[in-house]
Amino acid sequence: MKSLLICVVFIHSLLAFDYNLKPEKVSAETHCFFGLPEVMDEHNNGNMVNSCFFNMGTSYLVIDSGPTYSYAFQAYEKMKKINNLPISYVINTHVHDDHWLGNAYYEELGVKIIGSNEFSNETKVEMTRMQKRISPDAYVKTRQVFPTIFVNDENVLNIDEKKVYIKSVNKKAHTNSDLLIHIPDGKIVFVGDLVFNDRLPSIRDGNLNGWIDSLDEVRTMDVDYIVGGHGEIVDRTSIDMTYNYLKMLRDRVSMLIEDGVNIADAVNMLKMQEFKDVNFYDSMHRQNVEIAYRMMEWGSE
Ligand SMILES: [Zn+2]
Repeated sequence: MKSLLICVVFIHSLLAFDYNLKPEKVSAETHCFFGLPEVMDEHNNGNMVNSCFFNMGTSYLVIDSGPTYSYAFQAYEKMKKINNLPISYVINTHVHDDHWLGNAYYEELGVKIIGSNEFSNETKVEMTRMQKRISPDAYVKTRQVFPTIFVNDENVLNIDEKKVYIKSVNKKAHTNSDLLIHIPDGKIVFVGDLVFNDRLPSIRDGNLNGWIDSLDEVRTMDVDYIVGGHGEIVDRTSIDMTYNYLKMLRDRVSMLIEDGVNIADAVNMLKMQEFKDVNFYDSMHRQNVEIAYRMMEWGSE
């Protein structure tokens, strides 16, 4: 019996990675699991993204399901210890796979999953980006489960007499379609990867003008909390790093283009030292300058 038990424990430890997740209280109703300021690898196993739970009263609303099945399972186990509530909906802010690969777990629970309209164009891939980079024991049971409810313009949920406004940004910003989840009762908006505050954002899948416009819109909202997809700052200043970086990038690249500087020289010249201590500066900034130049000079995105 004892050897059987040891065997079971051994197999279990082979099959599951413990993310050691800790829910952090963000507001009266909100807890988030904040990811590390790193790229996904076999050490963090995708725990480099935020996943948040909003207590509606008799259920949780989940914003982004995290990087794997086992992450989602472990996050909900931790949340049940705070309040043993069912989940009303899971919302996926956008199509990047660190934000939604936990969906399979919630689907098994029978939870409906809402996502940005871009998911309707997505097809399942042979191997996800996450799957290629993290360890197989963390990826166990993870499947590509897309949302079944898409947001074209705005969907409004009414849960426990609280309204949840799920708005599509309606222009290319961080991706082709990003969602804002605004809960006026909680004075909070979840903005997905429109806001990074622990690393430089990548503009590769987005559009500079659309992204800056969408942040201008978020700035006008009557909220106390703005929760991004990466980073632990959740008050109204959470937006500042991304916003200032994108605006400076746009301004400086446009000046270089006006001055007739070619793309290779622009990439070498435009250092934006103010951001050099931000995570990912070394790996991301030059690429962002190049993409920004292409977008602004030739309209290629
Ligand atoms: Zn993203």
